[in-house]
Amino acid sequence: MKFSFFAALLLLSVQPLFALDPAPAPAFEVTDAWLANIANRAPENPLVAPKQKRTILIFSRMTGFKHWCTPHTANVVKILGEKSGAYRTVISDDLRHFEPENIKQYDVIVLNNTCSIGPGRHLFYDVLGDREQAKALENSLISHIKEGHGLVAIHGAIVAFNNSEQFSEMMGGSFDFHPAQQIVTGKLVDPDHPITSAFDGEPLVHVDEPYLFNKAYLDYNFHPLLRMQLEPDAPKDKRIKNLATEKDSVERYISWIKPYGKGRVFYSSPSHNAQSFEQPELLQFLLNGIQYAAGDLECDDTPLKQMSKK
Ligand SMILES: [Zn+2]
Repeated sequence: MKFSFFAALLLLSVQPLFALDPAPAPAFEVTDAWLANIANRAPENPLVAPKQKRTILIFSRMTGFKHWCTPHTANVVKILGEKSGAYRTVISDDLRHFEPENIKQYDVIVLNNTCSIGPGRHLFYDVLGDREQAKALENSLISHIKEGHGLVAIHGAIVAFNNSEQFSEMMGGSFDFHPAQQIVTGKLVDPDHPITSAFDGEPLVHVDEPYLFNKAYLDYNFHPLLRMQLEPDAPKDKRIKNLATEKDSVERYISWIKPYGKGRVFYSSPSHNAQSFEQPELLQFLLNGIQYAAGDLECDDTPLKQMSKK
């Protein structure tokens, strides 16, 4: 017994520093133990004190692809607010929250893996079956953000209204496609940016779907936070096919912020897998991004297209 213990120790010591298994992370249920683990790793305090009491809606309805990590992600956002005191949360999948009279009460709307059905790809239409009503609710959401509130979209949430140019413009892009899950490295565009300071200068390394974007994304009308890097020796099916012609050299960002009217948007492609949230740095990053969306964390959100003109 004693020998095998030391043998195991020895084995551990010769493992490379980062021995992530690039295979898709296995699904698991939300358990009390997992929630306690996340609560333990979540930041004690927010990066900045909230300017006022903040209320956040966590909306996780999906009609398209069902992400197994959806309940985990909702709990992560809830725990981040509860533990740090940065905000209180309302968790509901009721579409009535998006009606103009009701949405007013929320400082931030968090869309959590709210995937819609292809090829129409309009979440509200999928649920309501009425184009006019669906568009009115989408407009209500867009107006609410434009008037000075926050939108946070996590991973598949960007697909919610994937064919809507208006939503794409607000979001900073639309979902295009993703190669198979693999080790994805999110390099920090600016390690000193308040939101990415969560990572202490180190990249985010985890197993994820490498998301790629189109539509408004190609306008670079957002302030990038994480730039995607894939393993150079990834098998062919995991490599990224080229985007069309002149867009070929496009940078692959997987997280960004952007002002929208008087409001703010934070998109985080991480993560397809709940295991990613076990990294305290990613938890801090998400909390920082939510605080930006709430209007509490003031930081540089100059769109990339304006940055390059400077
Ligand atoms: Zn996914």
